[in-house]
Amino acid sequence: MDAEITVIGAGVVGLAIAEKLSGRFNNLFLIEKHTTFGQETSSRNSEVIHAGIYYPEGTLKARLCVEGKELLYDYCRKYGIPFRRCGKLIVATTGEEISVIDGIRDTAIKNGVVDLVELDRRKIAELEPSVFALKALYSPSTGVIDTHSLMKRYEINTMNNGGQIVYGCEVTGIRKIRDGYEIKLLDADKNDYIFTTSIIINSAGLTSDTVSRMAGMDDESLRILFCKGEYFRLNPPKNKLVNRLIYPVPLHNLVGIGIHVTIDTGGGVKLGPDVTYLDSNVYDYKVDPAKQEAFFHSARKFLPFLEFDDLSPDMAGIRPKIQKPGEPVRDFYIREESRRGFPGFINLIGIESPGLTSSLAIAGHVCDIVSEII
Ligand SMILES: Cc1cc2nc3c(=O)[nH]c(=O)nc-3n(C[C@H](O)[C@H](O)[C@H](O)COP(=O)(O)OP(=O)(O)OC[C@H]3O[C@@H](n4cnc5c(N)ncnc54)[C@H](O)[C@@H]3O)c2cc1C
Repeated sequence: MDAEITVIGAGVVGLAIAEKLSGRFNNLFLIEKHTTFGQETSSRNSEVIHAGIYYPEGTLKARLCVEGKELLYDYCRKYGIPFRRCGKLIVATTGEEISVIDGIRDTAIKNGVVDLVELDRRKIAELEPSVFALKALYSPSTGVIDTHSLMKRYEINTMNNGGQIVYGCEVTGIRKIRDGYEIKLLDADKNDYIFTTSIIINSAGLTSDTVSRMAGMDDESLRILFCKGEYFRLNPPKNKLVNRLIYPVPLHNLVGIGIHVTIDTGGGVKLGPDVTYLDSNVYDYKVDPAKQEAFFHSARKFLPFLEFDDLSPDMAGIRPKIQKPGEPVRDFYIREESRRGFPGFINLIGIESPGLTSSLAIAGHVCDIVSEII
């Protein structure tokens, strides 16, 4: 075999896996179709290190988020990656939302998040004088991270471990052969290459279902639907009026966690993301200026100082959802596919939020799977 392990996709998850496995195993390749890492979802998100509050008990999302957050904070300290453990408030602005907040706390405790603090109006005013809420939950372990620096460090460590990273090559075909797989690549000059690998790790984000289909696994329940999230910037000087991440209570079925306030490591403040399932899987990163009205009304419930002109269109990202509209929340799909007749093929599909937070824990989980089969 040309490679022992091939990871497809250099987003934050594929890079974390490549770093971890290149430290343990020889002859690892990471293949990425763009000319550098993180050109898709990993550069278009809220950059929040989530605490692991909302995800249903027993799911990979809950376990890998709670585990991943602490791994990530330690990693940031070790490698000097910019982060801020700034904390977040989940705010209830109506009587109905107060009862939702109580339920959130119960879920968090089941997930092992035991540091949430309940705040009354007086305490909210002390922490965030410009925010309106009747009651809030304070999560001290939520933070923000500079994702680009994180991915750069994963890349450097992979290369230092002897892993080979191939940019500008798209995986266009996969064929099962004896003891492994043949992978077809297409480079930017439209040249085809073929190489062989014992193990494939499919971390191809928005097209991970397509990559799985290339090998012959066609599963309707794993079809990815592009689900867009748009952001608006909170212009200076009002960005100085909030010090922590501020979230409303989450939407039904966790389709999104509501238009929230995110502070980046440089002090910029964004509102978003909203949730729009796209009609077809197109890379549509436009921000619709007409949405400013809806963002304004949504955020004004807890940011009473907000005026319409304080917002400007910012950016958009696309979630790789396997949860169809109206369905209950779906878990990350991370499996070795022997039971479908594809031994040594590890699929990661539907790695939406909290994929960034969980990246190191996902890498550990995948490393355990590889250790069992190698
Ligand atoms: C709006 C939004 C907000 C979010 N906020 C947060 C947050 O605050 N905190 C958090 O923890 N998570 C958040 N997430 C989720 C997080 O961004 C993702 O879970 C994470 O970035 C997924 O990383 P990935 O490596 O799996 O995918 P990607 O970043 O999509 O990387 C996949 C890579 O595979 C490559 N690829 C695909 N097909 C091929 C092929 N055939 N050949 C070669 N290469 C290929 C792509 O080019 C891409 O670089 C958010 C997501 C969105 C959309």
